[in-house]
Amino acid sequence: MSRRKLIAGNWKMNKTALDGMVLMNEIKAALPCGGNPNCNGPEILVCPPFTTLTVAVAESLGTCIKVGAQNVHWASNGAFTGEISAEMLRSVGITYVIIGHSERRQYFGETDATVNQRTKAAVAAGLTAVVCVGETLTEREASLTMTVVEKQIRDGLAGLTAEQMKNVVIAYEPVWAIGTGKVATDDQAQEVHAFIRKNLTAIFGIVTAEATRILYGGSMNPTNAAGLLAKPDIDGGLIGGASLKAQDFVSIIKAAQ
Ligand code: PEP
Repeated sequence: MSRRKLIAGNWKMNKTALDGMVLMNEIKAALPCGGNPNCNGPEILVCPPFTTLTVAVAESLGTCIKVGAQNVHWASNGAFTGEISAEMLRSVGITYVIIGHSERRQYFGETDATVNQRTKAAVAAGLTAVVCVGETLTEREASLTMTVVEKQIRDGLAGLTAEQMKNVVIAYEPVWAIGTGKVATDDQAQEVHAFIRKNLTAIFGIVTAEATRILYGGSMNPTNAAGLLAKPDIDGGLIGGASLKAQDFVSIIKAAQ
């Protein structure tokens, strides 16, 4: 089964609307295809903060770059001050959304249960959910990586159908590798990716598991990307720091080609 690679940039809480416009143009200019919407390279996604989404969508029109958000609420509207719904994201041209990033879990009380609610709402509205899982350093050192990831997958995706999984991407992001410069080795990452695919097979069946893309995230950069992306179960990257520099982001895109 060949899965099209996906290279996704998580801009986190960086880039004003103006800065985002500049970065979008730098990315387009640096892409070997110049942003041609018909290029057959990896799928390209950027996930700016909410206030930069509309300008990023405007800059993405007619190009091969897609735009995603970094969070979504599970209700479609209502008294949820500070939240944004899937319909609202759709209405401004958003097609993807990151859900359950470790920073949301660590600082904002995100749990597998809320990841599950958000994921269901996102796919029901036609968005593709990028569901993040991954262990902390303490958990890895206690040999709990697989236990933690298995639970995050099982509970985070509970109740989804194989059909809905067509709109789900998994991102394996070991927490100890995010923003630290410590990257999982190619083999460490592949081992967990293969384990995730085994779990997806058990839950949804082999066809869905083989079709689901599993991204690696955690200090991916132009130097380490090719090795990681060459592994059979690594279908792309979710990139934080290096996605804020057009040259670095595009180098990773080239490494995926
Ligand atoms: C991320 O935030 O999803 C991430 C992987 O960050 P970084 O690439 O900076 O480690």
